[in-house]
Amino acid sequence: MLDIKITKTTAPKAKPADESKLGFGKISTDHMFLMDYTLGKGWHDPRIVPYAPFELDPACVIFHYAQELFEGLKAYRTADNKIQLFRPECNGKRMQDSSERMCIPTIPVDDFVQAVAALVEVEKDWVPHSEGSSLYIRPFVFATDVGMGVHASHHYTFCIICFPSGAYYAEGIDPVRIYVEDEYIRAAPGLTGFTKCGGNYAGSLLAGEKAAQKGFAQVLWLDGIEKKYVEEVGAMNIMFKIDGKVYTAACEGTVLPGVTRRSIIELLRDWGYEVIEGKLAIQTIMEAGHTGKLEEVFGTGTAAVVSPVKELVWKDDSVTISGGKIGPVTQKLYDTLTGIQWGKVEDTKGWIVPVCEG
Ligand SMILES: *Cc1c(COP(=O)(O)O)cnc(C)c1O
Repeated sequence: MLDIKITKTTAPKAKPADESKLGFGKISTDHMFLMDYTLGKGWHDPRIVPYAPFELDPACVIFHYAQELFEGLKAYRTADNKIQLFRPECNGKRMQDSSERMCIPTIPVDDFVQAVAALVEVEKDWVPHSEGSSLYIRPFVFATDVGMGVHASHHYTFCIICFPSGAYYAEGIDPVRIYVEDEYIRAAPGLTGFTKCGGNYAGSLLAGEKAAQKGFAQVLWLDGIEKKYVEEVGAMNIMFKIDGKVYTAACEGTVLPGVTRRSIIELLRDWGYEVIEGKLAIQTIMEAGHTGKLEEVFGTGTAAVVSPVKELVWKDDSVTISGGKIGPVTQKLYDTLTGIQWGKVEDTKGWIVPVCEG
């Protein structure tokens, strides 16, 4: 158990009056959680303090060698005004796995969940009320040693910030066009693909920009060696329903193990679908598209929950999926998962962690 010291702001900000204009990650709340790490001493001084900029030495390791990680999850307000989290221990565990790869000292999962819940409770009035809205929570950890030498830092800061965020599908679920990237790669075996490190994102921006210029919402990444097998999309895992079965890339080092992915696989298997986690060639998917066997394609992630795909473009080939509309299984997954998250569907899986009364 962390002994969290709470210092409340004396100048709380006005809450946004119009929740329809919240957007995503634009307005920070009044407080943040901080905890420091010093080699020999471990993690210390857990505290919640007024939200404020950091003051960092220009020679701080994070600016030069990118030793950092982040997480992303949400707090939800139910109709009977309870504030709750969805599987936060999965985020805590994933941060530990990422930390080991990045030589960052781990934080016990229970401490991670306690820190998130404590901050959310302090900020409970910031959890928005409107349909589909939530409080987006961004935990992150970064190296704070000062100096140019390349080494694993001896000092770190763990921080959690929050943003009231509007409904992802404010204008209804809108299937997207995806560009299959065949020049750049996101990950390769032995690298950091399975971690939520900022560097993975920095390296993927160019492909995303080029795809956006051509009118695509996201890129679909292929494996880093043969550029043959599908892995994931921008910040989402991706699933393909072909001839009744659901396929997705296995989480074997190059793919980010999404909490949404894992939850969806559990639901699909409960419903009797066969889910295959493994190698799936883009060629096979395109062929399935041309023979009418590619039934549904959707991305999965905390922000959107599911993001149906209406078109895949690979080199000179393209396929349209579900007639450009959201497919029935994608819709059922969306309704079930969002139902559990916002407390409208009974949580028979033990996925919900209550925080406080709203
Ligand atoms: C965060 C993320 C996901 C989705 O993970 P969730 O836990 O479901 O939000 C998928 N791919 C990448 C690259 C990510 O960073």
